[in-house]
Amino acid sequence: MQHLAEHDDHDSRLVDGGADAVERSSEGSLRPRGFDELVGQTELVDNLRVFVAAAKARNEALDHVLLAGPPGLGKTTIAHIIARELGAELHVTSGPALERKDLAGIVSHLQEGDVLFIDEIHRLPAVVEENLYPAMEDFKFDLILGSGPHARTIEMPLPRFTLVGATTRTGLLTGPMRDRFGFTARMRYYDVDSLRQIVSRSARLLNMDCATEGALEIARRSRGTPRIANRLLRRVRDFAQVAGKSTIDRDAAEYALGRLGVDARGLDEMDHRLLHTLIHKFSGRPVGIGTIAASMGEEADTIESVYEPYLLQEGLLQRTASGRIATRLGYEHIGAPFQDH
Ligand code: ADP
Repeated sequence: MQHLAEHDDHDSRLVDGGADAVERSSEGSLRPRGFDELVGQTELVDNLRVFVAAAKARNEALDHVLLAGPPGLGKTTIAHIIARELGAELHVTSGPALERKDLAGIVSHLQEGDVLFIDEIHRLPAVVEENLYPAMEDFKFDLILGSGPHARTIEMPLPRFTLVGATTRTGLLTGPMRDRFGFTARMRYYDVDSLRQIVSRSARLLNMDCATEGALEIARRSRGTPRIANRLLRRVRDFAQVAGKSTIDRDAAEYALGRLGVDARGLDEMDHRLLHTLIHKFSGRPVGIGTIAASMGEEADTIESVYEPYLLQEGLLQRTASGRIATRLGYEHIGAPFQDH
């Protein structure tokens, strides 16, 4: 496998689904290696299995696949599995990396049936994206030789390959790009039971003794995201180890997660601050995103893309025409008496 990826750094928030390069490099050992080891996303995985089996039976390259969904749900993992199950070589790169790296260099190394994984494909520079269209559609690439008035274009034929694209923001993907994928797989947040299985599996692989109740407690606080579940498991292990506990049971998990500032629903201090701002600072009246941002000393975009989605999904916060409000559940969660406006 070739590693061409360069990932942007995410902030180090414990309950963020993204990961920096260091965390990603340590994740390999926990990554499921085949469809059989993948937990959850059953419908999507069953479809992928069929497409992979059919392509193999016909001895053809698999159609291009788009994996869409929030960070940490398994898009990279699935790209690796697709390549492995096809018995193909995987080439990994990302939208931002292709600003500096030469797409021509990457595609010229592709062999028949190989898989090219482009993470964050919505961040491809427009020129690169246009060069990718003929590669995806007709398996040819326009090479530009020389520069200025003497530049010439040569058409380079490509072997049939499969592009697997991953995106956290389908809305930012251009229509022509979306249309060139044979199959779009939408990843969903995992339910608590799937996450519990993931935590138990990871604990086994890391040689930790983790009781079902301990795994369940970690799963409940992982915001539907396997990456967060694995991260919390490692931190809980640290606390258990220092406390001299050989087993991660429910008490050990509750204690550690409390110390880490992750509450029973997986909310952290920032989530609490946001709910407090809505409920106490603005007395529960609808507040515009700009006002919330100014009052919390954060960028409006960060609040919208990082903090809000989980609170919205959990039904703790609501967007109305006149601004954001905390829901009854939001009030209850932070123990404030509900006021309807
Ligand atoms: P993404 O590319 O969507 O950000 P990754 O594929 O890198 O997410 O997954 C993050 C981590 O979560 C991986 O290291 C893997 O161990 C774990 N993981 C993701 N999906 C699953 C799953 N379905 N079953 C078990 N572990 C998973």
